[in-house]
Amino acid sequence: IRVTFTPIHRREIGIIGTIAVLQDVTEQEKLEASRREFVANVSHELRTPLTTIKSYTEALEDGALQDPELGPRFVGVIQNETERMIRLVTDLLHLSRLDSKESPLRIQRVDLIEMLEEVADRFSFQMQEKEIQIAIRIENGLRHVWFDRDQIDQVLDNLISNAMKYTTEGTIRIQAATIAEGYLSISVEDTGVGIPKMDLERIFERFYRVDKARSRNMGGTGLGLSIAREIVKAHGGTISLESELGKGTKVTFTLPAGPERGAGQ
Ligand code: ADP
Repeated sequence: IRVTFTPIHRREIGIIGTIAVLQDVTEQEKLEASRREFVANVSHELRTPLTTIKSYTEALEDGALQDPELGPRFVGVIQNETERMIRLVTDLLHLSRLDSKESPLRIQRVDLIEMLEEVADRFSFQMQEKEIQIAIRIENGLRHVWFDRDQIDQVLDNLISNAMKYTTEGTIRIQAATIAEGYLSISVEDTGVGIPKMDLERIFERFYRVDKARSRNMGGTGLGLSIAREIVKAHGGTISLESELGKGTKVTFTLPAGPERGAGQ
């Protein structure tokens, strides 16, 4: 709490009293602190690949370029780090657009069956590489829904790619059901490593990861879940995550999916 005292003067008499203003600044300070933390995180996340790129370029300059084995390997590292930076900046731009509410949702009629099959198809290569199947289950009669298809595509991509990253084998289940009139729930469940209880509360925070090194190795930016949450929030839905260490993780989001509040009927 910030307290400001202002004395009240009366001519000839002098100070006759004081006005005390009590201002609750905790919220403001919290916001400031989280903004500072965010900037520090972004700087760190960008600095890491830049430092790697710098040292590998120097090594190339110092002779590795002529080495038939080291040369291509070092160039590969530089390429990977550059791609990571592009992913990071793309994610940051997406988040900042969502934050500023610059891009209104483009609500449209979506064929849910077709959409979920398409999403799963995009992962078929990774599925083959690992011993993982994707199973889609859609409630009987549920087919046409209304939301911003591109954005929900992104949510599903983020959730399924997490499920893929943190699972070695098993089945990723995608389920869709009606939960109330005009409301839809979609969940992505995996049989992967799970998340420790103590991390669950903060898992949707920007850059929060259970294991930073592991997430980086997997190509993660630490922003996937935060982006998913912002998109779902923008639709007026909710997102939650349940997980058990060593057993698996289930992320469920809800969306108003009827045409009545849809902008693009
Ligand atoms: P990242 O790019 O690191 O995957 P996310 O925001 O998507 O960032 O996820 C944040 C963290 O949550 C991850 O680093 C990981 O530790 C954990 N996580 C997310 N999804 C899963 C999952 N399906 N199984 C296990 N851990 C997960």
